[in-house]
Order: sequence, then structure tokens, then C-alpha cells
Amino acid sequence: SSRVVIIGAGIVGANVADELTSRGWTDITVVDQGPLELAGGSTSHAPGLVFQSNASKALTLFARYTVEKLQSLGKDGESCFNQVGGLEVATTPERLQELKRKHGFATSWGVDTRLISAEECSNVYPLLNKELVLGGLHIPSDGLALAARAVQLLIERTSKAGVRYIGSTPVTGINQADGRVTGVTTPNGIIPADIVISCAGFWGVEVGAMAGVPIPLLPMAHQYVKTTAVPAQAGRNALPNGANLPILRYQDQDIYYREHGDRFGIGYYGHRPIPVDAASLGPTPRHVTEDNMPSRLKFTPKDFEPAWKLSQELLPALQKSTVAEGFNGILSFTPDGGPLVGQSSTLDGFFVAEAVWVTHSAGVARALAEILTTGKSQVDLTGCDLSRFDPVQLTPAYVKETSQQDFVQVYDILHPFQPRDSPRDLRVGPFHERQRELGAFFLETGGWERAEWYETNKGLLSHLPAKWRPVERDAWSARYYSPIAAAEAWKTRTAAALYDLTPQRRIEVTGPGAAKLLLRLTTGDVSRPPGTVTYALLLDGSGGIRSDLVIARLGKDSFQVSANGAMDFAHLSREARIQTTKSPARSVQVRDTTGSTCCLGLWGPRARNVVMAVSTDDFTGASLPYMHAMKATIAGIPVTAMSVSYVGEPGWEIHTTAEYGRRLWDVLWRAGQSHGLIAAGRAAFYALRLESGIRLWGVDMTTEHDPYEAGLDFALRESGSFYFGREALRGRSAKTAARRLQCLTVDDGRSMVLGKEPVFASGKSVGYITSAAFGYTVGKPIAFAYLAASVAEGDSVEIEYFGRRIRATVMRDSAYKPHSDRPLV
Ligand code: FAD
Repeated sequence: SSRVVIIGAGIVGANVADELTSRGWTDITVVDQGPLELAGGSTSHAPGLVFQSNASKALTLFARYTVEKLQSLGKDGESCFNQVGGLEVATTPERLQELKRKHGFATSWGVDTRLISAEECSNVYPLLNKELVLGGLHIPSDGLALAARAVQLLIERTSKAGVRYIGSTPVTGINQADGRVTGVTTPNGIIPADIVISCAGFWGVEVGAMAGVPIPLLPMAHQYVKTTAVPAQAGRNALPNGANLPILRYQDQDIYYREHGDRFGIGYYGHRPIPVDAASLGPTPRHVTEDNMPSRLKFTPKDFEPAWKLSQELLPALQKSTVAEGFNGILSFTPDGGPLVGQSSTLDGFFVAEAVWVTHSAGVARALAEILTTGKSQVDLTGCDLSRFDPVQLTPAYVKETSQQDFVQVYDILHPFQPRDSPRDLRVGPFHERQRELGAFFLETGGWERAEWYETNKGLLSHLPAKWRPVERDAWSARYYSPIAAAEAWKTRTAAALYDLTPQRRIEVTGPGAAKLLLRLTTGDVSRPPGTVTYALLLDGSGGIRSDLVIARLGKDSFQVSANGAMDFAHLSREARIQTTKSPARSVQVRDTTGSTCCLGLWGPRARNVVMAVSTDDFTGASLPYMHAMKATIAGIPVTAMSVSYVGEPGWEIHTTAEYGRRLWDVLWRAGQSHGLIAAGRAAFYALRLESGIRLWGVDMTTEHDPYEAGLDFALRESGSFYFGREALRGRSAKTAARRLQCLTVDDGRSMVLGKEPVFASGKSVGYITSAAFGYTVGKPIAFAYLAASVAEGDSVEIEYFGRRIRATVMRDSAYKPHSDRPLV
């Protein structure tokens, strides 16, 4: 097998070694700068609370696996997991509601949880102040990881399997040649390697710098204290570190609790953010002790004062104790709260597994080992992939600002659409000023400002026909929403609308090997002549959908690809590099043109009238049929027009370079006034695409789904050459799929859901919602859900939303029939 060096023998490094050896890999060396018996990283002092429930499916599945693994990892009859259960309490009505939502996620992701009353909370956790608690969420399978012990047992087990461990040895350099790692440098010499995996925890930035790979994490201090003995706890736990009570979260005040024998451990996230520069910590001592390790900084008691007061209120028994000891421990935060997992997009063979909690450690390690041994993780890694960030998001300034926000918000109730407060206006396109003038309400994604709706369209609401009028929403689904979206949807279906598509990723693929690359990697037939546009999927080795693309062939060797994100760019770039090196005659260049270009979607039954007023080119179907592209001129501006639609109405994507953007907007705007043209935002777009049956990658399909399950098998080319993932699909069909993405409409016509809610049929959980919106054209809330194949069209199901069951009916693929009868992009 490949020669592997793992940097770091914390809970992540040790688990990665273990997951690799259990898959038959043998040539593995683990190097740690600290001594192996206690290496001095975050794992060395982690109190080990494992709360599994999380809005992220991936993180929940990682936590579930960590629990299973730690339960099975043991010695002398004792495992590395104390399954005391977990209790999250609500002391505000908002949190009580949030717990209902969490119960929904947990159900969707297969973790058994119970919503319990205040009374039941007291039964589960008798020390709680009954006056404060309104209710709770009980997770019986949560508990305490014995992280440091687990590391020792994993080192023991993997050493037996042949893994070499080298302690007290810092890695000081990553060796590379021709874009590949070749080994690591240590004070004792070079260790050759084909694969280097950095599991360096909060030192990740420093190790990344050795490899020339920016790592977007910020080490931050987080306070943890132990109390003196609590008299009410006397005799409850035999062992000094023992625990019987569930682990407890008091998220309204950013605090969590566990027992240490008759003492309590209290962790606090409510203090000011305290960023740490890992490089300033100095070398790890040869003998690490509880009080002398780089990951433990001096306690700052003032920061803890509010937590102590609040803790004594929640758990009055603590009033008979004091804070005995405390420290500011260091752990990693990232711009979006997700871990960093996977291969560098620029240095082959350099992998990371960082910003990982003990809670997710075994799951992340399994995912990485799966990538290395099979090419694919069974859990979708979209929110965890190291290459999910754009260059601007990798700058230290961005990482510092956003990761501190992540720390502040770690226990907050966050709405799924909630944008970050700063940095804002980081990435804006040429239409931005015009959008502002129209009163755009912006949300932020990946640094881009995206108009959700335009306040100047408010007046349209009074003209809305009765059947288009939006229903009242509950407070949660009404956030970041305006009924104006209904008016914008109406105008798109009945007149014409301009949509800013600039933030959508555009990638140029050119060179004599361009067609070959796209034929090899995607399911689409891009060998058709220039002027054609193809909807295609990028599959992984087992047929899972790693992305979907719209590929316009603009010339023999020139393609424009609409893609989903930085990960697509990283993937295409890497494959292009490999192909070019292997066969220079088939060289191919991949360039991200998103920032230097712009794009408007002009759609609606009157879209053609608008464009004909400012162009002499032929935009009729005869010259530019559906799924075709042409070069054209609009009021003297050179553009590429593509007849594709995401909203189910005819029209085009109109692309041009950034400097023409403002003029393009202005001429179309002026020409459109007599045809009822409006500017429309993402809220209308999202709803119209959903009711037209169009799937959104990352939400409606991921690597966990194949094209048959996602209802995208129309995008598979039937004949012709090999494409990646094709073999894996052999023998599968829409009929053999055990689950399918189905469209649901909500029976009462008014109850909204937002996504990730569990779906029940005959009382049994049968799937979960992916995306949802109000279907303005059909006058009902609609949603996509993966449902067991046994659930058929016309069946009645129930969606759980904040603990309430909402009846819905299973439809076919889409609620609205788009203008083209083919499901489109
Ligand atoms: P580490 O344990 O830090 O391991 C990284 C290793 O890499 C270190 O041993 C280090 O010596 C080594 N290394 C770094 N650079 C080099 C180099 N150049 N050469 C060689 N070796 C190198 N998580 C939970 O899930 N539940 C909790 O209750 C919890 N509580 C916490 C409480 C506190 C106070 C803190 C600070 C963290 C807590 N965490 C908790 C987070 C958790 O501790 C960490 O996320 C986790 O331990 C990280 O594991 P790791 O293996 O990635 O990192």
C-alpha cells in the first residue's frame, strides 16, 4: 500500500491510523511533536462530551459512528464511552421551539431523541432548578468519550497492526516534487511518504504553511473549570472521573456540564472570543502534564464570572461549592463551523482532517480512510471538504473574522437563511448598484451578495390575482422572507423577469483535450457540435452525484461550464492537470471566470419581446432552440446567450464580461418596461425552480444519491465512451432504486416547512425533506423528499415541523409543468 505519514497523534490522528489499518493499509507512520502517552494537544484535556444531534447530517452521522466505535473500543472490560445520555434544556420559549426543531433533525438523521417536559427534565436530572427549565431534549445514546484513553488504546491496537509511532518529534517541513508530496522533514531526518495526512488540530495552519496550503481555521481559547466537591453529589460516583448524570447543555447561556466524581466540570462559550496564535506557543515539553501542555492556557477568571453565577442558578446544588481550577483550552474554529477534511486542491497527496471535535473524530477518520482506500466517503462531505472555500475565504483576515463569529454563535439559535453580519459587500457584481436602487434585500453566500427580493416590487402585491396571493407564515418561516417574492414569481410566469445569476460559478474549459476531459468526467454527451448545451452530472466512483453541470460548447475546443462551487473547480482543475501531464497533445486549461464575467437570467413569456427590442440577432427557437447557445449582440454588447431555464419559463441566460454588465442591465431594463419586466430575486427563483421539478445540488442530491434515486437519469448518456462512475451504475435503474426524490404538496395549503424535516408514512419515519418553498403557481407549499420506494404517488405522508405533524401528498416529479416537457436545469 502507499506510504502514509500522519502528523498528530490526537484523537483524530490515532483514529485515522486505525481506520486505515482496519482497511488493510500497512505502511503508516504517525509523528507527534508531543510525547505519545499524552501529546499535549486538545485531546489531552478534552472533557469528552458527545452530543450527537446537529443540523448537519454529516456531523450527526460522524458522531453516531464515534459513539459506536468508542463503545466497542475497550480494555479490561471497560469501554471508552460512558453512555450517560445527553440532556439539552430550554429556559426560553425560543429554545423550547429550537429543541423541537433539533428533535426533527435527529429523527431525519436516525438518532433517537425525546422531547420532554420540565417535570421529566427534573426526573432525568434532579439537580435542575425547576423554576428555570421549560422543557428539554433527551438523547439516551449521548455520553462521555474517554478521549485520552481511546488514543492510548488506538495506539496500542494500531502498533500491533504495524503502525510506527514517533513521539516528541516535530514535523518541520513537507517535502514535495512535481506537485506531489514526497515526505516530511523532522529534526531526525526525512520520512518518505506518498500520502501525508495532517491531523495537527489547531496547529493545522502551521503545518499547512509548510506545504503551501492555506488552512482556514482559527485556534481559539475556550474555558473549562472543575468545581470543588458538591455535597449533594457525595457518594454518587465511585471514580474521581465517574459520571452517572446525563451530560447537560444550557445553550441559552452558552454553558455545558458533566460530572467528575463528586465535582462538576463546566465549559463556557459565552466569553469574549480569544484567538490564539499557535505558532507562538513554543515547543511541546518532553513531559506533558495536566498543567503543562501547549493546549492549556492560563485561566482568565473574569471571563468565567457570568458562567459561574448562571450555573449556580441552573444547578442550585453548586452554591455549596466553588470553582477549584480552570483553564483556557485551545480548539479550532472555521469560517462556517464545519471541519476540514480531504485532499489539498493544489498539492497531491496532502490530506487534512482538522477542526474536528472528539464527537466527530472517528466518523471523520472513517470518511478520510474511505476516500483514500475507495475514493469515496459514504457520508457526503460537502460541508466538510477542504476545497469548499474560495480564495477570498482563505485569507487570514476572513478566517479570523468569521471563525470568531462561529465561536460566538456556537450555541445560538440560527435560522437556516441567517446571513453573517460581516464581512458583507465582499463580492458584488456589476448589477449591484442597480439592485440597491431597486431596494434589493441581500443575503450572503460564499461572500457574494444575492438579492432575495426587491422592495420596489411591493406595489405589485396590490395587483396580485387572488390565486397568487401568498399565505400568512409562522414566525420562523417568515424570517428572511417577504410576500414580494409571490409578486416576482407571478411576473416571471406572466410577463418577464431579470435574475442576477452572477454568483453562480462559471468555469471555462479550453484546449485540445477539453472535450475529452468533459466526456471522461461527466455523464453528458458534450461531443455534440458547438452551440449545444448539455446538462450533465459529475459522478464519483460508486455512482454518487458529486455535482451537476450545464456545459455549453462554444467552440471545438472551448466550453463554458456552469458549476456549483469551489469544489467543482478544484476537481476539474486537478483532473485537467493530470490529463495534461499524461498526454500533452490533449492538454486542457480550466479557469474560474466567475468574478470577471456576469450573467443575467431573462425569463418569462414576454422575455423574447424584451430582447428583440435591443438585438437584431435571432432569439427565436428556430435559431436558438432550447439547450443551445449562441454569440449575439445586445445594444452593441457582445454576449453569449444560452437558452436554458431554471424557472420553467422560456428565456435565456445572458453572459458577458464584467465591464459590460451595468450597460446590459440598463438596456434590458429600459426595453422591458413596456413588457412588464421586473427584477426578481432568489426567493422567487428558488420557489419557481422547485415547482418546476429542478433539483439543487448539495441539497436535493449529493454523493449519497445516484442519478436514479435523484430522478436525474435523463442526464446519463446512453451510448459512447466511458465516463467516471458509469460502471458503478450498471444494473441499476429507476425501478431498482430503494428510495427516490419525490415532490410533496402540503394538504392544508399553508403550513410551511424549510428543509431537513423528517417525513412519516403510516407513523413510520420514511425519509426527510431536502428543499421546500411555497409553490406560488400551485398555491401550496411544496417540498422534495427522499422517500422509500414503497411510498407511491398519491400517498399521504406527514412532515414533522417543530413537533407538529403536517399532512402532505406525494406527487410525481414536479408540481408545475415547465414550458419544456423535459426536466431541465
Ligand atoms: P489534537 O488533540 O490537538 O492533536 C493534534 C496533534 O498534532 C497534537 O498532539 C500535536 O502535538 C500534533 N502536532 C501538531 N503540529 C505538529 C507538528 N508540526 N509535528 C508533529 N506533531 C504535531 N470536543 C468534544 O467533542 N467534546 C467536548 O466536550 C470537548 N470539550 C472541549 C473542551 C475544551 C476546553 C477544549 C479546548 C476542547 C474541547 N473539545 C471537545 C474539542 C476537542 O478537544 C478537539 O476538537 C479534539 O481533541 C481535536 O483532536 P485532534 O486530534 O484534531 O487535535
